[in-house]
Amino acid sequence: MKKRRKTTTIIFVLSYLMILLIIVSCGSNTDEISDPVSSVIDAEETSGSEDMPDMTPIPTQPVETTTPQPIYPGPDIPLVPNDDIVEHIFFHEIIAYPEKAFDGDRFEKNYDDYMVTVSEFNAILESLHRNNYILVNMNDVWSEYTDDNGEQRMRRNTLMLPEGKKPLIISFDDINFYEYMTHDGFMEKLIIGEDGEIWAQGTDPNGERVISQELAAVPVLDRFIRENPDFSMYGVKGCIALTGYEGILGYRTQTDANNDTDETRLTRMREIARVSPVIERLKQTGWYFASHSYGHVSTGTISYYEVVADANRWMEEVGSLIGETRIFIYPYGSRLDGSDVYETGPAFRFYHDLGFRYFASVGYESYSRIKPDIGAIICDRISIDGIRLRGSRTQYLRFYDVIDVFDPLRPSQYGTQW
Ligand SMILES: [Zn+2]
Repeated sequence: MKKRRKTTTIIFVLSYLMILLIIVSCGSNTDEISDPVSSVIDAEETSGSEDMPDMTPIPTQPVETTTPQPIYPGPDIPLVPNDDIVEHIFFHEIIAYPEKAFDGDRFEKNYDDYMVTVSEFNAILESLHRNNYILVNMNDVWSEYTDDNGEQRMRRNTLMLPEGKKPLIISFDDINFYEYMTHDGFMEKLIIGEDGEIWAQGTDPNGERVISQELAAVPVLDRFIRENPDFSMYGVKGCIALTGYEGILGYRTQTDANNDTDETRLTRMREIARVSPVIERLKQTGWYFASHSYGHVSTGTISYYEVVADANRWMEEVGSLIGETRIFIYPYGSRLDGSDVYETGPAFRFYHDLGFRYFASVGYESYSRIKPDIGAIICDRISIDGIRLRGSRTQYLRFYDVIDVFDPLRPSQYGTQW
């Protein structure tokens, strides 16, 4: 069996070399051989309007993968310019075990207000897909350019999407697996499984160790896109917003000035070594990251100096691990300097100097504004959580009907308004 595979491999390599030889010897023919993606981009560039050369539509870039991922759209699916509002919804980590999260303890109401359960998350993804939404990367929706005065500004790109598809960004806040949540109905960390893919590890309500792809937001969305590739543009997934005070992704990578010993430093280094391949795999498979501040601080109400100290610590302890990001997701939706829509204060400028360009709060619409005085985007995201599930039906009908989605395992005493 093994031998045959070896022979096949040798034949494959030999024929590959032969093809390569033919291509090289044909010289001019090499021009015609290009990968389908770059030829799509070339076609778009040449078809751009002549008097506005800067407005060339920029497609969502394909995602690099080490193992085969379903790539949608294939070359047979035509792309059309799309200038629709890009809807932006967000979730927190999902509740793996509702019976445990909703057990009447002091955290129950918090989970009920701000989280959705696994079954709700699955039902919402199915409904979004049925309603023709397609995931795009926030970094592809706007881009930076130099204006006539030599200033760096942001502008909206025209996305190239399959006909009938509606662009959607999903972000996930606080994918840190905070201590209070683990063992209380949530998984504990994201890990790399034996297959090289992302899995979640945790403990079930009986105290048994669980490794699953069905019980945390990241692997659930991964699986959903594996099964429904047309829910994602080139395999794009979601934006993961991270704080740093209890580490990231379930790994305790944070420093602790009150407990700084050789042992804690060694533990921290081990955690960093463990989380690094997880970060790498997430990036390879279409995930991207955002800052959510280091300490989940109320960015709009603390002092400038506190904003700076918090941001520097995030850059040192989280930015150093996840790499560059341009997205800042306000904790509590609290806008820098108290307001950033019509003003640009010192804290906002500080974040801009760190490289941040997208500043996302929370609202009832997928509002966005290109700031005229500095290269930055202000935007709102629509929360999907227990408060909205219980409180709003009609506002969300374009995404899902809460009646079909609502988990009956939620505590009944908090009621619904539909
Ligand atoms: Zn948060």
